[in-house]
Amino acid sequence: MSNTAETSSQAYTCQENCADVAIFKHNPAREAILGRGLKIRRALPSVGKRMIGPWCFMDHFGPVDFPKEEKIVDVGSHPHIGLQTVTWIVAGEMLHKDSLGFEQVIRPGQLNVMTAGKGIVHSEETPRENSGSIHGVQLWIALPHQDRHVEPAFEHHPDVPVIEDKGLRLHLFMGSAYGKTSPATVFSPIVGIEVQAQPGRHSIQLETTFEHGIMMVEGDIEVGEQKLEIGGFYDLGRDRDCIAFECDEPVRFMLIGGAPFGESILMWWNLVARDEGEIREALDHWNAGTYFGTVDAYQGERLKAPELQTGLKKS
Ligand code: MN
Repeated sequence: MSNTAETSSQAYTCQENCADVAIFKHNPAREAILGRGLKIRRALPSVGKRMIGPWCFMDHFGPVDFPKEEKIVDVGSHPHIGLQTVTWIVAGEMLHKDSLGFEQVIRPGQLNVMTAGKGIVHSEETPRENSGSIHGVQLWIALPHQDRHVEPAFEHHPDVPVIEDKGLRLHLFMGSAYGKTSPATVFSPIVGIEVQAQPGRHSIQLETTFEHGIMMVEGDIEVGEQKLEIGGFYDLGRDRDCIAFECDEPVRFMLIGGAPFGESILMWWNLVARDEGEIREALDHWNAGTYFGTVDAYQGERLKAPELQTGLKKS
């Protein structure tokens, strides 16, 4: 539980050096279909950009409507190591179950953070009681070397700090911004904000030492001459103290950032490690049914691990 739902009004105006003439690198997200027609846009990792700070993975799923009796999301038990998963829902609901015994439905405005550390297993599915729609994001955060073998943990936060600023509504789900801090456990300097904006001109304060990225979720915005379009992922780079933008419709986007990670990571399937030996060891354990726990509450089949490719590219 947390008690951070207070809403504050903290108007922020960009200083003169705010670059609203932006040269943002556009990394088109890769599209895929998960399960029964759930459209996924994978923004990270991409060919052009592997990480934003410690953020190493970002999927945008939906929006999609479906018959309520249909389980549109049903991702069976699978392991994770070396990372945190962050789930943020824009519409609908998702049910998380894990090998620690947690069962948790997440709804819009709420936050699920799972710290895999040395190893956890979970499943994700559409709950039986659902609204017939789903829209959200799942992100992964790489754990720094000294924390990547921590004990696994799961946190549900029913609310996160909200910052209101003249037609802007910011949900601070990870890290710190505007003098506020999300209740979620973090292991390195980081920020994650869901931005909602009404039509108009806005500016958002940024941490200069961070690198930042934007995933457009609803609507388009204009930053100087550049249009940031729905479904696109934009690399803002470093050394920005704010971003100023305009929109002529209500918009929503995910703003993520963090201190440059400073370590090379190796990602394969749901595993974040440092070398192929570690990935191989985790896959062998998963395939043999050893080391990792089980999600006793999940009814379906556990996921099969894909064959390990050699010569994986590090992030
Ligand atoms: Mn997972």
